[in-house]
Amino acid sequence: MEKETAVTARIKFLIQKIGIDAFNELVAEEQKALTYHRYKIDTSKFDEPVLASGQLPAGKNEAVNPYKFELWKTTNVQAQKQEGYVVVYVRVPNGNIGSFTSRSLIEKLRPVIGDDVRITINQGLQFRFIKPEHLEYIYSVLETENLAAAGFGSVADITACPGTDTCNLGISSSTGISTVLSEVIDEEYPEFLYNKDISIKISGCMNSCGQHGMASIGFHGSSLKAKGQVVPALQVLIGGGVLGSGEGQISDVYTKYAVRQGNKYFYELLKPFADQTTLTNEDFIDWGQEEKFATAIGVGECAGVMIDLVATLILEAEEKLDYSKECLDNKAWADGIYHAYSAFVHTAKALLLQQGVQCNTQHGILNDFDKHFTAKGLFTETNSFKELVLEINKNEPTEEFALSYFQRAKSFAAFAKQHREQVVLAENVA
Ligand code: SF4
Repeated sequence: MEKETAVTARIKFLIQKIGIDAFNELVAEEQKALTYHRYKIDTSKFDEPVLASGQLPAGKNEAVNPYKFELWKTTNVQAQKQEGYVVVYVRVPNGNIGSFTSRSLIEKLRPVIGDDVRITINQGLQFRFIKPEHLEYIYSVLETENLAAAGFGSVADITACPGTDTCNLGISSSTGISTVLSEVIDEEYPEFLYNKDISIKISGCMNSCGQHGMASIGFHGSSLKAKGQVVPALQVLIGGGVLGSGEGQISDVYTKYAVRQGNKYFYELLKPFADQTTLTNEDFIDWGQEEKFATAIGVGECAGVMIDLVATLILEAEEKLDYSKECLDNKAWADGIYHAYSAFVHTAKALLLQQGVQCNTQHGILNDFDKHFTAKGLFTETNSFKELVLEINKNEPTEEFALSYFQRAKSFAAFAKQHREQVVLAENVA
């Protein structure tokens, strides 16, 4: 989910910057290179779910807490469209479930659930084709795995992106505040476990991977300066959600309730929480942390802080060329072209970084390569590297084009390797 939502967020900012018409023009420019413009999906070839044997393992299969089991049945179980079966939803805190837990869970549940397990949009799990008489067994298994929380899809079932846990763009901890808020609702406001009208979603920054813009109450990570120090903060957005019929509303200003009350009502209601004069020492520590908050660029999910970035990019480019070759061998021309394109961009980025040129966008890399290499006579294969690489948009993905594009990407990678060796040698001599 995270990667897809990050891409969606970037598209959002791009549209905001260049406008929808310019965006549509860019999309149209790319379409020529697509293998399929329309693709009919043959759903008759989809596998039918394999149904469970229904053989419960020997041993104790009762819920430890019968009251909680009844509550869970009310909030986490639904009748399935196929008669005689029910669907079970599992709340997974912050979407975190380890491989040992997943394996143990599936091993124990295999006899009573269909083999079609789904991940829900709010980071939970969905088990299908369950006989109602097996619910207590399923609940007892979930109890042992600490996954038996009631209130799936309720106010307490908060969605959060990884935030500062693993994302180097996160500003403040989305998972920390999500955990604390869920606990407060579970323990102090259990009536909200039945409420599925209000959703809370949290992102660690404005990029929206936690879908905060599509929540009744959305938060995104931020920071404030107060008393000469940096305080972890959250920006509040209100009133987003799915309206039905394929329509939605971006939170900003709770759907009908929010519209009725108006922006000013919420501004006045929340204003006291932004009062910096009442800050105490613990406000300078982010949720789930022990150290004082500071804004810094983190290492992200890749922990390789000490790697040679240039060498790594060249290696990655070689890997893209291998993928490209594999696709061409399988006559997957469009895919082969795409990987060759990636190899071009990775290679150019490596050379630019070696020269100390910072790279952001792919178009920026193509322009900068012409500025720092082609124009200076350091790369002489073409007058415009950008035009060479962007041939991808001007040609249909034919065999002929794919093979020649791949060859040019390959010789560009060879050039880059040679250039880097010369630079490294010169540096060592100096
Ligand atoms: S911190 Fe920002 S970029 Fe990172 S996962 Fe969350 S919303 Fe996305």
